[in-house]
Amino acid sequence: MTKVFTQYELNELETVDAEGHYVTLRNGSERRYLDFNSGYWCVPLGHRNREVRSVFDKGYYARPFGSTNPHVEKFAETLCRLTNGSKVLFSTTGSEAVDDAIRLAWQSRARDNLCNRGVKYVVSLKGGYHGSTGLALYVDGFRGYDSYLPLVSEDMKSHFSVKLPDPLKFKGDLEDTLDEELNKREIDRSKIASLIFEPVMGARGAVSMPDKYIRLFEKLQRDGVVLIADEVSTGLGRTGKMFGYEHYDLQPDMIVLGKGITNGEFPFAVSVVNNRIMQGIEDSQDSDYGKYLYGHTYSGHPTGSMMASKVLEIIQRDSLVDRVREKGEYLTEQLNREGLAVRGKGLFLGIEFENSKKAREIQIRLMEQGISTNSEGDTLMVVPPYTISYDELDLFVRNLREVI
Ligand code: PMP
Repeated sequence: MTKVFTQYELNELETVDAEGHYVTLRNGSERRYLDFNSGYWCVPLGHRNREVRSVFDKGYYARPFGSTNPHVEKFAETLCRLTNGSKVLFSTTGSEAVDDAIRLAWQSRARDNLCNRGVKYVVSLKGGYHGSTGLALYVDGFRGYDSYLPLVSEDMKSHFSVKLPDPLKFKGDLEDTLDEELNKREIDRSKIASLIFEPVMGARGAVSMPDKYIRLFEKLQRDGVVLIADEVSTGLGRTGKMFGYEHYDLQPDMIVLGKGITNGEFPFAVSVVNNRIMQGIEDSQDSDYGKYLYGHTYSGHPTGSMMASKVLEIIQRDSLVDRVREKGEYLTEQLNREGLAVRGKGLFLGIEFENSKKAREIQIRLMEQGISTNSEGDTLMVVPPYTISYDELDLFVRNLREVI
């Protein structure tokens, strides 16, 4: 019996090794599997990438806050250039980076409103996933996570989380629906501090943002709401653009990155913040809301920063964002030919089945064929490394055809 707390039946499998596009799993006996889940969406360059690993030995630990280091500076500089950002906050997991973003957004809005503490609501989407720490947990849009709501507020009227409908199902008027929810809870629109969204929702099964959602995001942003793009799963090329938000006519105020940022080799995550938000914080360092307090022991770790810079360098040098787009288009076409409905973008794809039991069954059958994937509800996720070959994509399609 495992002494490690696990939730899912497949976690009984032990991962004993990983190399390139393959993972070795043990369940009694050992077997290599072609990894069409990229670890858990966090190994874009394939397991044990030598170039990324070679950086590790040059790393060291540095005092993380109250000071800086050349490696974290270099990475922050590149990120700001790519995203039009002004400052970067460093943490170790996607959840923490989401927490940082929500907290900073609230603080900047509280300042704008003369320290009005009522400006605290965070809009997110049903079906969305943003993590499992303090604030991220409460903006998650999954049943089950709701059971933690009483920890923050038993009174839903004063709870800071406001949910928009699940975009996969919703057919009505989005703005009316938001207003109805706000009215029911007696919340004025001006009290919304931020809105957080995934450009392509991962845990919901590769769901892109419909137009009407983007239009509402823009409108709220124009009214001062801080727009946070959670790019933990979609950032750095995964969707065939450097950042998922580039698929839409949108410029977020904050961008959260994690997962593949160090190719799964070092816990590392960031929140990139634009000038509009940062200015507010820096202008009022003396007020209650001026000083932003943050700093994890591992924030801005030189080793992680060097690895993240290397990953980004490889992605840019090898034009991997374009390769992801091309391979995603090819794979989608092949899957469509099999009569399968495919959602998502780039190499962040999902194939919807009748129900979650069926999706799980397909996942298990694929494992029997030597291919590792993941299912999210009724959707089989297809998230191979950016470096996957066309032969391996064909192999996947052939095996999927067989198991279906
Ligand atoms: N946001 C998104 C979109 C995610 O997919 C995840 C992880 N699946 C997180 C946040 C949380 O990241 P972490 O697991 O590193 O805390």
